[in-house]
Amino acid sequence: IIKVETISKSFGENEVLKNISFTVNQGEVVAIIGPSGSGKSTLLRCITHLELVEAGSITLTGKSMVKDGVYLHAEQLREICLKVGLVFQNFNLFPHFSVMRNITEAQIHVLKRKKAEAEDRAAKLLEKMGLQDKANAYPCELSGGQQQRVSIARALALDPEVLFFDEPTSALDPELTGDILKVIRALASEKMTMVIVTHEIPFAREVADRVLFMDCGAFVEEGPAANVIDNPQMERTKAFLSRLS
Ligand code: ATP
Ligand code: MG
Repeated sequence: IIKVETISKSFGENEVLKNISFTVNQGEVVAIIGPSGSGKSTLLRCITHLELVEAGSITLTGKSMVKDGVYLHAEQLREICLKVGLVFQNFNLFPHFSVMRNITEAQIHVLKRKKAEAEDRAAKLLEKMGLQDKANAYPCELSGGQQQRVSIARALALDPEVLFFDEPTSALDPELTGDILKVIRALASEKMTMVIVTHEIPFAREVADRVLFMDCGAFVEEGPAANVIDNPQMERTKAFLSRLS
């Protein structure tokens, strides 16, 4: 469902992604781990079209977004980007909108759904997130874990085929991480395709089918979570994991 082929990205002299390739299959949960500054967020931002790559190809949900560094026309790009959802570390909710409006806004203005239909969808998702009583609250009235669940509901409301998470738990207290884990586990059991950047190794081991270890703009090692995390083969992976434990 995702195919990334030899993409490169620099910020000035700083080569942040170096010829990166990887694929994600339908229904798979992939975790990306690696040191700070290794390029994990930049990779997600390139795949979700928040940054442009300079070379390489990206195919999403069977449609080519960029081929050999050349991007599609805006209209086709927009269509592809609608198929992917992104959940950020800092939730990025609209602070002056209620929870309900946060979840309905894009449904109404981007997908052109009727207000009643959008609200119905939002109510169902809030229930799924255990937040049915928070529809009229404002983001500042919620805990970090609750805000993160609202932002997951907002992403799901647009019916994405793939969900990307950039450190979904790193702004949360450890006890709230479990809530997000539960939500991600439930989505995994519904076969939602997910790519999760995380600093939390136990979290990656728990939710991911496959783990990719990234260092200095390239993948060093990948495989089933149990292999990469419990029995890493490469020195750089070993060094990274031992620093954390
Ligand atoms: P962390 O684990 O700390 O979130 P990361 O692996 O997500 O790190 P990135 O945020 O992708 O790392 O950053 C990779 C490199 O790209 C860093 O050297 C960073 O300084 C640089 N970088 C990222 N975004 C920009 C930008 N908009 N302009 C210039 N340099 C950037
Ligand atoms: Mg990052």
